[in-house]
Amino acid sequence: MEKKIYISCDMEGCAGVTSWEQTHYGHKGYDLALKEMTRETVAAVKACQQAGYQMTVKDGHEDGINLDPALLPAGTELIQGWDSSPEEMMAGISSDYAGAIHIGSH
Ligand SMILES: [Zn+2]
Repeated sequence: MEKKIYISCDMEGCAGVTSWEQTHYGHKGYDLALKEMTRETVAAVKACQQAGYQMTVKDGHEDGINLDPALLPAGTELIQGWDSSPEEMMAGISSDYAGAIHIGSH
């Protein structure tokens, strides 16, 4: 069985995010908040990949379409948007994963 880790990422709990204003598209501070969410997610992905894990990332903020797939390390599976899954921010999680990481949760 492949070694897999699942990451659910959100924005509100990321470093430097201190107001709701920063978490909405086009509002003051959104671009910086997204950069931080991306940095934290990429750091976690790289660490897990170095430990030999395949990675899945669920973009769990707002409409689930924030992360730029091109900025994620090669080989990362990205789940975007919402599919009405009962797992919502953990959509796609299963017993195939060895573990889960939450980035930016609040
Ligand atoms: Zn959010």
